[in-house]
Order: sequence, then structure tokens, then C-alpha cells
Amino acid sequence: MLRTTYRKVPTTAFVSQTCKFASTLAFIESTKEGKIVPSSLNALTAAQELGNPIHAVMLGSQASATASALKSSVKCEKLDKILVSNADAFDNYLPERVAPLLAQILKSDEYTHFVTAANAIGKNTLPRLGALLDNQPINDITKIVDAKTFVRPIYAGNAIATVECSQSKKLISVRPSAFDSIPQGSTESAAVEEVKVTESKPQIDIKWEGENLIKSERPDLGSASIVVSGGRALKDKETFDKLLIPLADVLHAGIGATRAAVDNGFCDNSMQIGQTGKVVAPDLYLAVGISGAIQHLAGMKDSKVIVAINNDPEAPIFKVADYGLEGDINQVVPELTQKLKEAQS
Ligand SMILES: Cc1cc2nc3c(=O)[nH]c(=O)nc-3n(C[C@H](O)[C@H](O)[C@H](O)COP(=O)(O)OP(=O)(O)OC[C@H]3O[C@@H](n4cnc5c(N)ncnc54)[C@H](O)[C@@H]3O)c2cc1C
Repeated sequence: MLRTTYRKVPTTAFVSQTCKFASTLAFIESTKEGKIVPSSLNALTAAQELGNPIHAVMLGSQASATASALKSSVKCEKLDKILVSNADAFDNYLPERVAPLLAQILKSDEYTHFVTAANAIGKNTLPRLGALLDNQPINDITKIVDAKTFVRPIYAGNAIATVECSQSKKLISVRPSAFDSIPQGSTESAAVEEVKVTESKPQIDIKWEGENLIKSERPDLGSASIVVSGGRALKDKETFDKLLIPLADVLHAGIGATRAAVDNGFCDNSMQIGQTGKVVAPDLYLAVGISGAIQHLAGMKDSKVIVAINNDPEAPIFKVADYGLEGDINQVVPELTQKLKEAQS
């Protein structure tokens, strides 16, 4: 059932939103290659909507280089300052190292808001930051009503909560798919300032051991404008690859999957979409052999156009689909791929 609930986050001290020193600290991540992480650009749009001057904070050995890239690539009128720390201790954004530094910066009365993307790093950092500042974070917001009122989905997106926060600092993570990316352009007026790190020593001994990432030329799921997604009906990895890769290639799409497909080993778990996977909202979402369980819908139902292919006319996915194709995926998907190829040649 869709219901609107209203909840108040516990009050600490109240600072007027018109406080002349009100500023927002926006955490901007960069890739190892020095590119700005796309979801940080969505978070910057949310920071701008708050209306305060923005100080971006960029951490890690690439920070100064990416600060220059930020200034020359985005148009963000409210961006006043970029705080950087080039310490390599912040590479990989280990939350045990990042959160104490952010807490140190946020202790300044100047900051009324902290904004980060609700991606893996933001979700990992925000609870620690909340604990260090004794402040209740507001996670995964999809809308800003005003500077202290935010909308966020709860119960896997089955209810929408409007949260009014009267804490002096609002610690917010932003659902990237709910906010546009900040426009391209330049913000050369923003000053770059080195942060003096006094509080980054982690309370527990932590070390980055390494990473083993799947490399793919495909568009990243979070920013792909078309996503082709497969479910249990694909039966095995071979069929998953045989049916979905050519379709995704012809559409220049990212590939996603249900938890059933991931659990059955059809694909890597970084491709899972849903409550316990990624949340996407592409222009087109093609659900192939997916039933439409609420946990899956929680990750894709905000897609602009949903197309479902399923052989069960009663499948719940058809209730959210804009276009439905009833049929056997083994027959329909190769036909569709072939027709798309012909249309493009
Ligand atoms: C706490 C929790 C968290 C979860 N998190 C997630 C999550 O993040 N993401 C997620 O996806 N799930 C999640 N799940 C699992 C979720 O409940 C479902 O089990 C899962 O989404 C089902 O995946 P599916 O649609 O691929 O499989 P099924 O539900 O088995 O559906 C397969 C569909 O394929 C159709 N089909 C079968 N053969 C063919 C054919 N030849 N041609 C056409 N259609 C065919 C069937 O009609 C059916 O509708 C979670 C569950 C729990 C309890």
C-alpha cells in the first residue's frame, strides 16, 4: 500500500536557516583516473537546491587535480570554495579515515548541511559521520522540500516519508537517480583551499588491501540511459550472455539483473538492481524474464519507460510496465535484437 508517513528526527539545537553563515559541505568523489564520480554531480545539484553557499570537499592524492577538473567542468553558481586534502591516506575513501576528517570540518558552526551521494562510499561514510557528530543522518533522499524537510523512500520504496529535521546540522545522502547532474560549464571563481588534517587517525586499525573489479566497456549502470536487465528466466550464465549481451550491444545499454539471476550465478553481483542492489532510473528499462517482485521494483520503478518481456500475462512486472511483450524470451529476444540491428543499418 502506498502511504505517506511523517516523522521527526530528534532535535538537538536549532539553527535558523537564515543564519548568515549557513553553508553546505558537499563531498565530491573522484575515480582513480581523476574523473569526478557521476553520482557526486547529482549530489552537487541537491546541494545547490538547498540554497546555501557550497564548499566542496575532495580527498585523496588526486584531490587538487580533480578540484581543477571540477571548476572547469561544472556550472555551479553556489560553489564558493573547494577544500582539498591530497593525503594518500584518503585514497579509496576508507570510511574509518574519511569520516573523522569530515567531522573535523563539520564542527565549524558555518556548516548547516552535509551532502553526499547515496552510493557505496556515501552509505559507508554517513553513519560513521553521524556517530562522530552525535547526529542522525537522513539517508537516500529523493526530494528537497525546504532546507530542513526532505522526502525519502522507506520499506523498499513502498512508502514515502517526509522527514523534518531540526538538528543544527543536516547530514544527508542523496539518491543519485532522483536529481539531475549539475550542468556542464565552469565555476572558475571557486577558491581551492588545503584542509589542515588534524583528526583523520582511525579509531580502529584499518588498511586497504586491494580490489578486484570487473572491467567493462559498458555504460555504468548508475548513469546508463538504457538498461537491459535479466531475471531467473535466463536459466544459466550461457543463456544470460547469449540473449542479453547482443541486445545490450545494439542498444548501447548497461546490463542489470535480479537477485535471482545473481544468486544463480548468471552474472556478477555488481549488476544486481533492487532493494539490496543498485537503484537506477534510466530513460529505458528493459526487463527480460523478470517477475517484478517489490524488492526488484525498488531499484528500477522510477525508470522513465519500462518494457517487460514475460511469458506469464499475470506477472506483476506488467503492472508497472509502459509496454509489455507476452512471449518466450528465447524466441522474442533474438528477434527483437535482429529487428533493432536492421533498423540501425
Ligand atoms: C530482503 C530481500 C531483499 C531482496 N533484494 C532484491 C534485490 O535487490 N533485487 C532483486 O531483484 N530481488 C531482490 N530480492 C528477491 C526478490 O524477492 C525476488 O525473489 C527476485 O527479484 C525474483 O527474481 P526474478 O524476477 O528474476 O525471478 P522470478 O520471480 O522467478 O521470475 C521469473 C519470471 O520469468 C518469467 N519466465 C520464466 N520463463 C520465461 C520464458 N521462457 N520467457 C519469458 N518469461 C519467462 C516467469 O513468468 C517469471 O515472471 C530480495 C528479497 C529479499 C527477501
